[in-house]
Amino acid sequence: MLRCQRCGANIPESQATNLEGKVLCEDCCFDLLNPPKACDPLAVSSTLSIRKQLGQKGTDGLSQMQKLIYDTVVHRGEISKDELMSTLHLTPESLEREFAVLRHCELLRAFKKDSKVYFVKY
Ligand SMILES: [Zn+2]
Repeated sequence: MLRCQRCGANIPESQATNLEGKVLCEDCCFDLLNPPKACDPLAVSSTLSIRKQLGQKGTDGLSQMQKLIYDTVVHRGEISKDELMSTLHLTPESLEREFAVLRHCELLRAFKKDSKVYFVKY
């Protein structure tokens, strides 16, 4: 067993990742390679103003990234998965993970059009 040097989790040797000389679990490695963009002041202020306009309460308690995804979809009305990933600098895996929560909260839904996946408000 190895120990993640970031979060302290015990990790089987086969799942340990070596990043810049540190032993990390897969989650920490993923977080470090995909830093959240939520501290971008422009993105935050436009997110806030959109939320204010819509008087949203439904996203209370969601993570910054989930709120950002939700607000981006609401703002665009309809956005393809590819475009959403490139806009928010998300990997397919992290988008799937965040979207699962949003879908579960009935905030967003996905549909297919011309073999592409699109997201819209629920
Ligand atoms: Zn870790």
